[in-house]
This record gives sequence, structure tokens and C-alpha cells, in this order.
Amino acid sequence: MPWTTPKERRKTRSVKVGKVIIGGGSPVVVQGMTKTPTENISATLRQIMELEEAGARIVRIALPNMRAVKALSKIRKKAKIALAGDIHFHSQLAIAAIRAGIDKIRINPGNMTEEGILQVAEEAKGSGIPLRIGVNSGSLKEGFLSKPTKDRRTNPIQEVAQAMVRSALKTVRLLEEESFRDIIVSLKSPRVLTTVYSCQLISQKIPYPLHLGITAAGPAPQGIIRSAAGLAILLAGGIGDTIRISLTGDPIQEVKTAHEILQSLDFIKDRVTLISCPTCGRCKIDLVSVVSEVASRIEEVKLPLTVAVMGCEVNGPGEAREADIGIACGKKGALLFKKGKVSGKIDKRDLAGVLLREVTKWGQEES
Ligand code: SF4
Repeated sequence: MPWTTPKERRKTRSVKVGKVIIGGGSPVVVQGMTKTPTENISATLRQIMELEEAGARIVRIALPNMRAVKALSKIRKKAKIALAGDIHFHSQLAIAAIRAGIDKIRINPGNMTEEGILQVAEEAKGSGIPLRIGVNSGSLKEGFLSKPTKDRRTNPIQEVAQAMVRSALKTVRLLEEESFRDIIVSLKSPRVLTTVYSCQLISQKIPYPLHLGITAAGPAPQGIIRSAAGLAILLAGGIGDTIRISLTGDPIQEVKTAHEILQSLDFIKDRVTLISCPTCGRCKIDLVSVVSEVASRIEEVKLPLTVAVMGCEVNGPGEAREADIGIACGKKGALLFKKGKVSGKIDKRDLAGVLLREVTKWGQEES
């Protein structure tokens, strides 16, 4: 069947994390995660602020031991953003984190007992905070795979995806029996299609918001491409309420990538979209330098604007005309287009400068 328009977003319950709403038709929430040792309070606080500045609305921090939870108490007092705690193995750490003021707890049913999960849920209920049931293919309990094999590599995509869904559903039902419904679910695998299939499957079975991400996606650019490939399928299919990109590297880049993915699917419309041609033998100017200067200078600009930088007269005028501001280059310079009309000629030595001044002017006129 030909694909026409993005599907309507799946209707889910809305879940509150601090002041942030996830699901229930709210905009998709971008999350980040700190990579500093949580016990290093000043470094962690600095990174939380950087992530917030880059556009994260929730920041998750690892809480592997009581020292980290003690640090959380101090971090909580200074950080304004919603904080999520990442807990594995020990329910007592989750309970202590809730008492220290965390806004959400992520538990992994692959490494916590049912008894432990219920204790965490009771504490979370008392404090009015949600739980994320975060299933990872790498920490899936063997019992969920219907044909357990010593060599996990031989398990087909569908088999692992269904096992992940079974694991998440078991915990969802466990919490529902206790009337706990502030639930967010994530199913993540480093395999893009396993993640996609598992999220598609569970989205038909539960009313709770879904947190999306390709876990251990690798370094940039592979990690970015793999994350975008998986998340685009889900988001365009109406699935997904919050996202976190996992890259081996800079956590700020994770948040920027999340915004790029949302922007490329029109989920975010308040940032500048840069369209530029790849150049070819027809291009007679140094377009690469112009584009890289423009790209770096508009990165932080919050304007719903499309800027096109095109190398010649073949597709240049068409693309530049369709953008809000555009240039189509020739031998000596370029034609400048604004709102679909030719607005003047620019000398080739000042292409980036003129474009950037036009962006600034546009912002001033709009404000
Ligand atoms: S716009 Fe012109 S220079 Fe750019 S890729 Fe197309 S044909 Fe080549």
C-alpha cells in the first residue's frame, strides 16, 4: 500500500514526570542521560545543565549504588529539570532514590525480582511518580525466549521481539494488579528491526506511553543513522511518546540528534531546516564552506524557517524558491530568493554573510 501521510499518533494515557507530560497527545519529549559518575556532583550538575540547554526535558542519571543515591539528594536540590533514575538489580536503590526526590524511576524487569518491583511500585505510588519498565534484549531473562538457545545470535528478530514484549507485559500486568498505572514502557535492542517490531507489537497491547530508542547504537555516524532508521519507522507510524538517543560519545550530541530526528519528521517546527545540494561538476563556487558556515551559525536559532543553499541553476532556483530564504549560485555569485521571489544578487565572497543576515532579519521581523 503506498505511504501517504504520517499516521495519527497512538492514543495513550498521559504520565507526568515532574512537570513534563509524556503521552496523551503531548509533544514527543526528548530525554538525555548523564555520563559522568553520579557521585561527582559538580560534574553531573554541569552535564545536566548542558543537556537541558541542548533541549532535553528529562535527564536520566545512573544510580548504581547508595553513594550515587546520596549524591542525587544534593543534585536534586540544584537541578530544576525533571530527573529520572536508572536502576538495575536493587529495589532498595529505587526506593531510596524516590525518597531523595527523583521524578521517575526506570527499572529493568530482566534483573529485578517481582517482589522488588512491587516494593518500588508501592513507594512510587505513595510519591506519585511513574515507573518506566525498560526491557533490553541484552538483559532479557532466558525464560521469555520460547526456544532458548545458548547462542543468542541464532534467535530470529521476531523471536527476540516477542520475548521482549512478553517480559514487559508480565511486569505491566503485575503493576496493574496493584492498580499502578503511571507506567511508561520501553523495548530496546541494538538491532533496529527487533526494536521496531517489539514496539509495534506492544503498542497494540497496552495503553501506556512508549519510550523509544535503539540501545547501544554505537558511535556517530552509525549510531545516529541506526537510531534515525528505527525511530523514523515508529514515529511516522504514530508510535512513540518520548525518545532518547544512545551514542557512544558526547551526551549533548544525543540530544541534538533526537531533535534532528523529530525535526526531519515535522514533529518539531521551531528550528531552522537547512537544505543544501550535494554539489557536482556544475558547481562553480566553494559551496561546502558556505554551507558549513551557515550550518554552524544557525544551529541554535529557534525559528520555523527553511534555508536553501544550492550550487547551480539546475535545481537551485526551484529549491531556493520553495524555501523561506534561499540562494541559487552561478559563476560569480548567487541569486537571493525570499518568500519564493528573487530579491537580489549576491557576490560570491559574501554568500554566507548575506544568508545569515537575512536569517537574523527574518527573526527580527517575526518577533
Ligand atoms: S544544484 Fe547544481 S551543483 Fe548542486 S548538485 Fe544539483 S546540479 Fe549539481
